Amino acid sequence: KGKSYSCMVRTRIPGGKVTAAQFLAELDLCEKYGNGTVRVTTRQGFQLHGVLKDNIKETIRAINDSQLTTFCACGDVERNVMCCPAPHKHSPVHDQMQALCDAIAEHLKPKTTSYYDIWLTDEAGEKTNATAQFQPVEEPIYGKTYLPRKFKTCVTLPEDNCVDIHSNDLGFLAIVEGDEIVGYNVLVGGGMGATPSAKKTFPYLAKPMAFVTPEQAVDVAEAVVKVQRDFGNRSDRKIARLKYLIADWGVEKFKTKVEEYYGQALPDPRPVVVTDVDDHLGWHEQGDGKWFVGINVPSGRIQDLEEARYKTGLRTILEKYGMETRLTALQSVLLCDIEPKDRDDITAILVAHGITAAEEMTPFRRLAIACPAWPTCGLAITESERALPSLIEEFEAELARQDLTDERISLHMTGCPNGCARPYTPDIGLVGKAAGEKYTLYLGGNAEGTRLAFIYEDMVPSTEIVPKLSPLFALFKEQRNAGESFGDFCDRLGQEELAAVAAT
Ligand code: SF4
Repeated sequence: KGKSYSCMVRTRIPGGKVTAAQFLAELDLCEKYGNGTVRVTTRQGFQLHGVLKDNIKETIRAINDSQLTTFCACGDVERNVMCCPAPHKHSPVHDQMQALCDAIAEHLKPKTTSYYDIWLTDEAGEKTNATAQFQPVEEPIYGKTYLPRKFKTCVTLPEDNCVDIHSNDLGFLAIVEGDEIVGYNVLVGGGMGATPSAKKTFPYLAKPMAFVTPEQAVDVAEAVVKVQRDFGNRSDRKIARLKYLIADWGVEKFKTKVEEYYGQALPDPRPVVVTDVDDHLGWHEQGDGKWFVGINVPSGRIQDLEEARYKTGLRTILEKYGMETRLTALQSVLLCDIEPKDRDDITAILVAHGITAAEEMTPFRRLAIACPAWPTCGLAITESERALPSLIEEFEAELARQDLTDERISLHMTGCPNGCARPYTPDIGLVGKAAGEKYTLYLGGNAEGTRLAFIYEDMVPSTEIVPKLSPLFALFKEQRNAGESFGDFCDRLGQEELAAVAAT
């Protein structure tokens, strides 16, 4: 018997907006063709794991039949465009952001018909999807060579950086006056990935470039993409992301080139910066008389465990109520448009399936995320998703011992330096470094994602992570300034001073 090859199949979902039918279709597919789980990704998409080669076409076809797609979920193109997913109706702001997210995703979608020719045809070559574009057209933005590397975009608010704008190639930070978005600060050049053996690679935070009106946003996005298309590094893939061009040129030179492509000058960014982040968990009134509830799904893995049956619980609610859902960048699921009278029943279903209410979780648990790593990611050096649950328990025990349970401390963990779970910006970052479960320990970022963390210690065995942080938590408790977070505290003291204290 020959080898069986399996793949991960990722669905692109702008703003993580998913109908109940689409959600249920992914749950069906994971059982029919995948490993029985669906993963909510850190870019508001779905991933199916363990899809055998023979079943890939059927799987992709079924996803497209549900009016979702895998097109542009991977490749050197505009990836899934992210947007704050909270379905707030108190003002038009969230709908306006989602509309921009959808418009950018559509505008920057390649025009090639190859995807449809390959995946949405039957054995006789007949198309299987009535809405797909099969007529060959020009590729006005990507040309013949597409982009040098993947390209990531998001839309969000200063007071809620839940999509981590500074880690995106291109970000639109909404400026709100009254109830309206009057424009966006455009940030450019963020990216997390790095290769330890290549000093020329580094994580980088996106920098403010300009202010644009809502009407200008899509065309400016196109201009930014085209500048990266023409000037991004095409000879060395390791330094092909936009961040290396920004680091090389500086923002001013880059902006001048974007203005040239766009066709007019752009004003400087407004003095508005990210101030907070919201995980959107728990129950919230939407502003239209209905409610949404945010459900924490550990590492986004929708599965049935002995202690909590996420897959069956969500399926039960979606089949009964058919509500729209949203996926968050912290890998959680929002169930939306809930009538007040249905709240108790939905809560009861969640409880019956062992799904913990966000209000009963520690802030540490709510903010912790991990990339998949082993066994599904071929690039993994260490565990990540599978190691996170026990690590969270260790952290929770230590924080409780030091009376720090209520502190908002964010942990992001990855199985290699590619940084899929954005480990270079939270209070604590863990990046798989070497066999034997050894990690690089980063400190000094923050939950808002506005600061790069520094390397506190390299090659830390998994069993020593919490013991190494224990004296730092004690010091934090003793010497913190009023209102100072753990990440701010670590940033203020710096690596040397922290290490000196830990050594005493
Ligand atoms: Fe795989 Fe590395 Fe990404 Fe984790 S960070 S999913 S190990 S590539």
